[in-house]
Amino acid sequence: MSVSMTADVRHDWTLKQVQALFALPFNDLMFQAQVVHRKNFDPNAVQVSTLLSIKTGACPEDCKYCPQSGHYNTGLEKEKLLEIEKVVSEAKVAREKGATRFCMGAAWRNPREKDMPYVVEMVKQVKSLGLETCMTLGMLDEAQAGELAEAGLDYYNHNLDTSEKYYDQIITTRTYADRLNTLANVRSAGMKVCCGGILGMGESSDDRAGLLIQLANMAEPPESVPINMLVKVEGTPLENEKDVEPFDFIRMIAVARIMMPKSHVRLSAGREQMNEQMQSLCFLAGANSIFYGEKLLTTSNPEADKDRQLFDKLGIHPEQYQTDKTEEQQQADLLKSVEAERLNEFFYDASVPKSA
Ligand code: SF4
Repeated sequence: MSVSMTADVRHDWTLKQVQALFALPFNDLMFQAQVVHRKNFDPNAVQVSTLLSIKTGACPEDCKYCPQSGHYNTGLEKEKLLEIEKVVSEAKVAREKGATRFCMGAAWRNPREKDMPYVVEMVKQVKSLGLETCMTLGMLDEAQAGELAEAGLDYYNHNLDTSEKYYDQIITTRTYADRLNTLANVRSAGMKVCCGGILGMGESSDDRAGLLIQLANMAEPPESVPINMLVKVEGTPLENEKDVEPFDFIRMIAVARIMMPKSHVRLSAGREQMNEQMQSLCFLAGANSIFYGEKLLTTSNPEADKDRQLFDKLGIHPEQYQTDKTEEQQQADLLKSVEAERLNEFFYDASVPKSA
């Protein structure tokens, strides 16, 4: 088949074309993905993000894959909204470990109005450390998206998870249209979009293609496209799903790379289950972003060390955060943030209502 190997971004992908990409012999697909990748990115640079859960569990949504959903009993310990100080200190650790982007996630259907001042302050303080900021807080209305953008939030993560057709098999408490609406609010507020999906939820290969078509055919495709492999958590309805065939996962990365040549394709959930060779093939297929999970933010941090070792073996280096600030400006921001922390009045204990 003839698929253009130019770096042009297209927004008119059809199911047939995407099926044809998936059907290519593995080596041909990998070659095409590499050509596209090299036209658009440093092939040996991988962007590194760290994810911190700022509010864990008891989510009212019923996403069948998610241990944080209040609908399933997964034994997950619930946590209230973290204090700003704690978030900032985790962000500093992440920066020391080489992360350039700090993602903060809350298990909410949507942020409530009383939560907004805290998340806005988190964005400001993490940003002043010289890190890119990303949040995932559920659905956002126009005003909330505007507030976060104004605070300096760089990215908003809101995944589509799967194709529109398969979506209601996975989530019933909000619709695909709701998700698209939040993405539109994020875009019109001027933030970058992080949006992807999950493999291994019982979806067909056409559903996988459908998800990529949905993303690639957006007027502006997401700048960041996380491709997750289901982590089967006991107690969730998907705990007994079949494993994803590793080559199918790698193909998904390669097809995403070809269809969204300028986006960062991110290996996220499920990476712990992949051996080094599989991760390497994902990088070769065009993945150029990874998460260091929050649980890696421990003192010894062996997982992050493992990642560093893999980077060394492959000659990969972390991608630098492109900032237009001078070093002096970054230094000044840092000092400001240290001072802000000292004077921090936003010590938030969610168990004590502020107004009380
Ligand atoms: S909205 Fe997010 S946190 Fe809540 S159940 Fe779905 S995936 Fe989990």
